[in-house]
Parts: sequence; structure tokens; C-alpha cells
Amino acid sequence: MFPNRNTLFYARGGAMTDLLDQLYRLQTRIRFVQESERRRDTVPEDLVEVDREFQEKVQAVAALKARLAEAAVEKRKAESELADLKEKLKKYQTQLRSVQSSREYSAALNEIDGVEKLIRGTEDRFLELEEEIEKASGELSEREETLPAETEQHEERMKDWRAEQRDINEQLAGAREEIARLEAEIPPRDRAEFRRLIDKKHGLAVAVVIGGSCSACHVKVRPAAMQILKQGREIVYCDSCKRILYYELQSS
Ligand SMILES: [Zn+2]
Repeated sequence: MFPNRNTLFYARGGAMTDLLDQLYRLQTRIRFVQESERRRDTVPEDLVEVDREFQEKVQAVAALKARLAEAAVEKRKAESELADLKEKLKKYQTQLRSVQSSREYSAALNEIDGVEKLIRGTEDRFLELEEEIEKASGELSEREETLPAETEQHEERMKDWRAEQRDINEQLAGAREEIARLEAEIPPRDRAEFRRLIDKKHGLAVAVVIGGSCSACHVKVRPAAMQILKQGREIVYCDSCKRILYYELQSS
């Protein structure tokens, strides 16, 4: 007569009202946990932007410091290269004064030309680095000046969010305890069937009957099924969406 009646629940016999109450409460708590976890793990829209902006500022300071350290090394290297090149130049200039032939003379001049070219290039590089270091140092000190206030402001904003997350976690702990307690009270086979159904029905295994209809799919519950439901002796499934129907005496 009722093809959707589940044999697991049906086999229990007797009053189903307690079990239905437990299942419905369990579903409510499971949904609460899912919703709370989603809320806890979703950074509020306004904070996403705030956090991103702040992280960018922190990263900019770190990047400037890293670049300055690198540039200082490059500058020292250019400095020592320059010293070596000038030493070399001096050596060639000395050689030039003691050459014996015009062939030796033009060879020494060539060497001098080459070294002078290298010196100019290294000097340019040295000056560029100096300029870069000066600019980066200025930017760094500007950023470092404002960062403490920005950090404080950011932590203040995050503080409210962290407090909210802590509240949610406390509520979650309470809800999980109740879920464990309810599940322990429900016979394992019914519990397994309920879990299977709640997964299949995307978190809604038990649907309240409102105004004679299944509140999940809005299909009218047949009068005969309604009668069984009101008697509270069997689990009744919705003909249409196959969810467990839950009839609240007070609300109907
Ligand atoms: Zn339904």
C-alpha cells in the first residue's frame, strides 16, 4: 500500500514519534554544523579586501628589504670590480711609458681602451645601484613609518572576526556533542539509513508536513499516509521526493 515505506524503520514497529523527533533534531543540528562551518571558514567580504591590502603592504616592505640587501651586495661587487679595473689601468699606463716599439704601443693603447670602457660601464652600474638604493630606502622608510599603525588597525579589524570565529567554534562544539548524543540514542541501522538519506538529499532527509504537503517538494501527502503519520506508528516517506515526513502536532 505504501511502496516508499522503509523496511528498516518499519521493522521497529511501535511508536515512531520519539525516533522522528530525534531524527528531526539530529538533522537540525547537522545542518547547523554545516552552516556554522561554512560561516566560520568564509572570511567576510569586507575583510577579504582589507586583508589582501594589508598583506600587500607587508609583502611590499619585505620585498624592498630583500631588494636593498641584494643591491648592497651588487654595489659592493661593482666597487671592488672598479678598484681592480683601475689597478689594471694603472698597470697598462705604466707599460705604455716603457714600450719599445709602435706595435707594443698600440697594443697597450688597445688594452687601455678596453679597460676604460669597462670602467665606464661599471661606474654607470654603480651609480644606477646607488640611485636605486636611495629610492628604495626612501620608499622603505615611508612604508615602515605607516606600517605599525596599519598593522594595529588591521589587527583590530581581524580581532572582531577572530572573536566571531571563536564564538562559532563554541557553538559548533555544543552542536557536535548533541549530535553524538542523539546518534548514540538512535538504533545503528536507523542511523545509517538516516545518514544515507541526508547525504543523498543534500542535508534534508526529514521534511516537515505543512498544510498537508511535504515542505521539501510541496507535493500533497495522500490522506491515508497522513493518517498513518498522525498515528505516529510508522515512518512515512514522501511519495514524490522520498524524504521522511515529519508531522508536528502543534504546527498542523
Ligand atoms: Zn517531498
